[in-house]
Parts: sequence; C-alpha cells; structure tokens
Amino acid sequence: MQIYNGKGVSGGIAIGRIRVYKREQHISRISVEDTEEELIRFRAAKREALRQLQLLYEKALKDLGKENAAIFEAHQMILEDMEFYESAEAIIQEQKVIAEYAVFETGKRISETFAQMDDSYMKERAADVKDVSDRLLTILNASNGDTLKGDALNGDTGDVCNSAAAGSFISEEPFILAARDLSPSETIQLDKSKVLSFVTALGLSNSHSAILARMMAIPAVARAELPLDDSIDGKPGIVDREAGVIYVEPDEKTLTEMKLRKQKDKEKQEMLEKLKGKESITPDGQKVMLYANIGSLEDIDAAVRNDAEGIGLFRTEFIYMGREDFPTEEEQFQIYKQAAERMNGRQVIIRTLDIGADKKCEYFGMEPEENPALGCRAIRICLTRPEIFETQLRALYRASNFGKLAIMYPMITSIKEVRRIKEIISKVKAGLDAKGVPYGSPKQGIMIETPAAVLISKELAREVDFFSIGTNDLTQYTLAIDRQNTRLDEFYDAHHPAILRMISMVVENAHAAGIWAGICGELGADPLLTKEFLAMGVDELSMCPESILQIRKIILETDIKN
Ligand code: PEP
Ligand code: MG
Repeated sequence: MQIYNGKGVSGGIAIGRIRVYKREQHISRISVEDTEEELIRFRAAKREALRQLQLLYEKALKDLGKENAAIFEAHQMILEDMEFYESAEAIIQEQKVIAEYAVFETGKRISETFAQMDDSYMKERAADVKDVSDRLLTILNASNGDTLKGDALNGDTGDVCNSAAAGSFISEEPFILAARDLSPSETIQLDKSKVLSFVTALGLSNSHSAILARMMAIPAVARAELPLDDSIDGKPGIVDREAGVIYVEPDEKTLTEMKLRKQKDKEKQEMLEKLKGKESITPDGQKVMLYANIGSLEDIDAAVRNDAEGIGLFRTEFIYMGREDFPTEEEQFQIYKQAAERMNGRQVIIRTLDIGADKKCEYFGMEPEENPALGCRAIRICLTRPEIFETQLRALYRASNFGKLAIMYPMITSIKEVRRIKEIISKVKAGLDAKGVPYGSPKQGIMIETPAAVLISKELAREVDFFSIGTNDLTQYTLAIDRQNTRLDEFYDAHHPAILRMISMVVENAHAAGIWAGICGELGADPLLTKEFLAMGVDELSMCPESILQIRKIILETDIKN
C-alpha cells in the first residue's frame, strides 16, 4: 500500500480504480511582430528546464541511484541537442510565431520521427522528447502570466494552450480521476456518472474545479503529492477527503476501515435527510433562506434532492464553456426557462456570464492578459461586447415569464456599471416589446465581490433589489491573493477579519436600504461561520446542494441571542 497526502477540498470517501488523466496539448498558432522577444522567452525557458532537470537528476541520483537518474540526463541532452533548439528558433524567426507554438511543433515533429523508427530503444525516445517539450511549454505558460504560475506542470493555462476535451477520457467503470490539474472546462465535460473522485496535483479549495467537485458531491483532494504515471494508473485506490489522503493498493485493514467510515457517512446523511421540508430557522426565530449554487440544469436535481429553497447562483458561464461557439438565444432561453420551471415557484437567481480569469472560452477570442483575474472578465466583457450580453439578457427576460427568476451581475465595481446595465436592459425590453414577445419582471441583483462594491454598497443598495456576496473573489481581491495560485494557499484566509467586516457592512447597508443580502461564495457553506452570519443578519446562504442540510441542522440548533 502506498499513501500520498494532499488537501481535502470536497466531501467523503471514494473507493475505486485510479485513472491518470493525461492531457493532450494543442497550441494555437499565434503570430508575433517581435520575434526577438520570443527567442528570449524560448532561451530563458530552456535554461529553466535545464535547471529543473539538473535538480531532478541530483535528487534521483541520491534517492534512486545512477541508473534511474539517467533519464533526466537524457532529457537534458535532448534540450541541448542542436536539432531541437535550432528547429524551435528557426520556427520562431521564419514563421514569426510565439515560442510555445515553435516548441510544440518541434517536439511533435521529432517525437513522431522517433516513434516511426524500428528500433524499440529509439521508439521509446519519442516519449522523452514529448516530456521535454511539455516541460518547456509549462515553463513558457508560467511566464505568460497564467494562473498556474511557476510550479505548473501542465497546460490549459494561457489562451495559447488548450487541452483536449476531458470528456474524451473513456472508462467503462466509475473511477478516481488523478490529474495534474483540471480546468473548469475540462471538469464540466467529464461524464459525471463515471467519476468517483478528483485527485489533483495542483488546485485549491476555491478553484473552480474544487467548487465543481463540491457541486457534483464527490470527494476531491487537491495538491496531492502522488506520481501521475503508470505506477498508479489502473490500481485500486481510496480517497479520504477528511484526512486529505490517497491510498494506492490499500491493504485489507485500511479498506475495511474506509468502508466502515463510508457506511457511517451514509447513516449521517440519512439523519440529515430528515430535515427536508423544514424551514431553516433558529430556535429564537431567525430565518435564513438556504439556496443552492448550480452550474447546469442537471445540478437542479441535486438542489431539489437536498431541499434547496431556491437557486442562489446559477453560474451561466458553464453554458458557454466546453463548446466551439456561443450558445444561441434560443438555447439559453430553453435552459433558463427549464431552470425556472423545475424550481417550481421557488426563486432562481441566474448570474450573467462570468467568463474570464480561469474560466476561458477560446471562441471569445480574448487577448492574452498579464493579470487575467484583474482583466477583462465578467461584467467587463458584457459591457464591452453588448451583443453577447444582450443575447443572454433577451433569453433571461423571456424565461422570466415562466417562473420566479432573478438576474444577478458579477464583478460590479461602480454605480456607473449598474446604470449601463439598466440602459442595456431597457434596450432589450424595448426590442422584445417591439416584437410582442412576453417577459416577466425579474428582480435585479449584483454580486458584491470587489472591495470597491463593498465600500459603495450603501449607494449600490439604492440601485438594485438584492446583493449576493461572492466571498471567493472578495477574498482574492481584498487579500491581494490570486485564488488559483497554489503557492499562496496558506495566505488565503477566508476568515480574515477584513472579509468578515466587509460582509457585515454589506448586510447593514443592504438592510438600511430595505433590500436583502446573501452570500453565494464558498464561505456561505462554512459551518464554522454560520452563527456569525446569522448574527450579522445575512438573509440567504447559497451553497453546493450537498451542504444545505448540514447547514440547516446548524441553524436549527443555533440560538443567536445566547
Ligand atoms: C465568488 O466569487 O464568491 C463567486 C461566487 O463567484 P465565482 O466563484 O464563480 O467567481
Ligand atoms: Mg466571483
């Protein structure tokens, strides 16, 4: 039995076979004016790769002996080989393209040459060349200002590098998926019925793949220190979220112990099921609405199963991701209409498109950015590309005729933005009127997820019907910590007094203006803060469906005044 540690980010125990997900990289051919700059990037990446390989060689020599360390020496030789670097540099200079594309093309060509050789030793070198070019791509991606930064080991991080669809990862049996990282678009394309658990070498508790794991109600462990290779692929495994541990080829004793714990979890869940149908109200009479966060229509089943009193956050960007082109107005209308209908009179808060930062869509044709989290994302895209926004708004307004739908706007920082949204809405409504298309009057809310919005929440409260606090981004922007940067995990303190004070201030300003305020960031499901949120007077908590009954239990047992 081998034991590996990580950080548990989503619930429970999973028992099953491990499958290592190896991402196929595809690099877009992006032209550049300044080839000199690309040559400098390529040479710096080569130096960094040689440095990494030397460290790996020394470590392997010490731990595993000369024979096993030789592989890293071989990789260094490939990098130093004239054919490799001259080819990459020639592609940059002659084709005037980014370094990533030159490395990718070079690696592909040379490894294909090796793969076609008869000699089995030479054939195997194909994988080594691929490893070397992957290493260079990782370093280049990290230097490109993407989200995985220095310790990233794989792609899907910049606009230049896209992964193959995770949906193409086929397995008959349900399995534990082990990967370096999973981008949000890969995560949503997985066949959810087949995935028992996510184990990733990277990732954080507030990264979107972790959030999606929680929405899918499967155990997930991030920052797992396990080898993502054939030594674990296909082996039986256990993922224990609570301990943040992955067992590979578990022994009988561990297996029995884990099965027992899984059974206990099931019994605990059965107890919680008894709270279905009850109001979420404290013994001294304070009521909180418990809503569900969803990312697709399918998630509504989990919301209903867990007795959500409404949908507090429908992340619509997932409708746009994992596809080749924009969803049409009609497609969106059908989704929003069904969401409203399936929630059967209960409130459904649909957030408009929040693409950008780690949530990417190639077909949006966004320019690569130095700081994507501070870049053109969410409402900024909608306001600068109104044709995208108007299509979504038309679909939402039409759907609002079929249930209790509310619309919420992400990443607001100013009154001006809210007013511009209102202007666009007037135009959308006028267009629908002109065609005689019926629509309802959905409530209008904004996400409070920037410190600017918190500080002007008094003024913002006069403009809208409700606030929903996005604590994931609010923490990121308040503490100046990239929520995707695995190296900063220990500094990402969601309980920081600054965050709690901000939440309190937002609720106070909302109430003073006579509107309600909820929380839809991950903090909303934090059982350690439920009492504090109640004391602040938070009106609604929206969370992954599986957390709802557990939080209801706390509310039912919490006397605020004592
Ligand atoms: C948040 O930022 O807290 C939030 C709910 O939005 P997202 O996690 O989708 O950015
Ligand atoms: Mg957010």
